[in-house]
Amino acid sequence: MSFLSYRGRFAPSPTGPLHAGSLVAALASWLDARAHGGTWLVRIEDVDTPRCVPGADHFILGQLAACGLVSDEPVCWQSARGEHYETALDRLIAQGDAYPCACSRKDIEAALLAAGRHRERHHAAVYPGTCRPERGGLRGREARAWRLKVSPGMLAWQDRRLGPQQQDLAAEVGDFVLRRADGLWAYQLAVVVDDAAQGITHVVRGEDLADNTPRQIRLQQALGQPAPSYLHTPLVRDANGEKLSKQNGAQALALDDPLAALQAAAAVLELPAAAGPLHEALATWTRAWPWRGMAGG
Ligand code: GLU
Repeated sequence: MSFLSYRGRFAPSPTGPLHAGSLVAALASWLDARAHGGTWLVRIEDVDTPRCVPGADHFILGQLAACGLVSDEPVCWQSARGEHYETALDRLIAQGDAYPCACSRKDIEAALLAAGRHRERHHAAVYPGTCRPERGGLRGREARAWRLKVSPGMLAWQDRRLGPQQQDLAAEVGDFVLRRADGLWAYQLAVVVDDAAQGITHVVRGEDLADNTPRQIRLQQALGQPAPSYLHTPLVRDANGEKLSKQNGAQALALDDPLAALQAAAAVLELPAAAGPLHEALATWTRAWPWRGMAGG
């Protein structure tokens, strides 16, 4: 099946080089685009500047190129797109969907404690709505961040690999941050604005990002944007069963044998073994891609 308008992307954060886990998402998004006769873009998500490593963006692009994965259109850097995030935030404020928040992390913990809401370890605190306009807003305190209002109720969505998913944003996340206290744009807003601006129809990314999807769908709704279809790919785990990530010291992908790196990524995606040369292996996996024609959205 061919989607004339299929547009997909790989959107790495330049917080370090690609590793075996991020290559799985890169390869899967590329194969899904190719299998649907679509366009594949690379977008550098460098809004969280304190976490970005200088030079990692170009290093990642070099790693991708060594693997034969090259953006079909000029690469886009989120750091150059602040005015677009500003326009979206202004619209959400004007619509009454976004409000300023003065709470520090400590304030939020204290409010949750006072309300008898205990927070599970490893779970981000659910914002208790302290600065909601209907609860008195900032009450003279200084605005730190901007949040999006969410309402109770299940938000249901379909993942092409994981099947039906749902989340009650109000109960599990709370009103979430669009612009952080340090003035930086939140990932959720930047990703939604850019997916729409780039006409992305299919998001293919790692499963660790799946629980961001309801927040992004809520934002798409508020901004009047169509929802892309989603496919979240399996994660690569280390010997202890932990997800491979830059934070836990995953090895940078070695550039000396890109075919071997791709073969390992293809195995995670349960694709058949394929020998070189590189472009033939990529063609074999494109033909074998199991998610063809399941791209509804
Ligand atoms: N920049 C995000 C990351 O590297 C991925 C964003 C996305 O694919 O939606 O984790």
